[in-house]
Amino acid sequence: MSLLDTLYQQAILEHYKNPRNHGPLDPHDIKEEGLNPSCGDELTLYLNLHDGVLTRVTFEGEGCAISQATASMMTKVVTGRPVNEVLELADMFRQMLHGAEPDERLGELAVMRGVAKLPARVKCAALSLTTLEAALQRAQV
Ligand code: ZN
Repeated sequence: MSLLDTLYQQAILEHYKNPRNHGPLDPHDIKEEGLNPSCGDELTLYLNLHDGVLTRVTFEGEGCAISQATASMMTKVVTGRPVNEVLELADMFRQMLHGAEPDERLGELAVMRGVAKLPARVKCAALSLTTLEAALQRAQV
């Protein structure tokens, strides 16, 4: 295992043990639940939106380190961004999980690029952003 892989693993474990923006958000504009049955990962996202900007995102969940650490990193990366940019980031993240070079706007989420080499875990890493996309699509109806 390379030094870089080790550093990525440390970042993932650090977020898993000390999740950011963790817990229900009260009051919230949107609540969305996501599930990755292939691993048993569960996620609930709470969102606040104001004038097309995601002002606050928190999460609760249970599951593997990859799924929960991605959720924690994602809340940091997307907070304060306009919805259209968040949807763009979700798309970039999906492409990265399939081997594309990470865009710098993905910030800390770029550490999940190693998951591209672990096809069984792609759904674990993707759960946060697919759940967020579902929440935002529902909000725009
Ligand atoms: Zn998982």
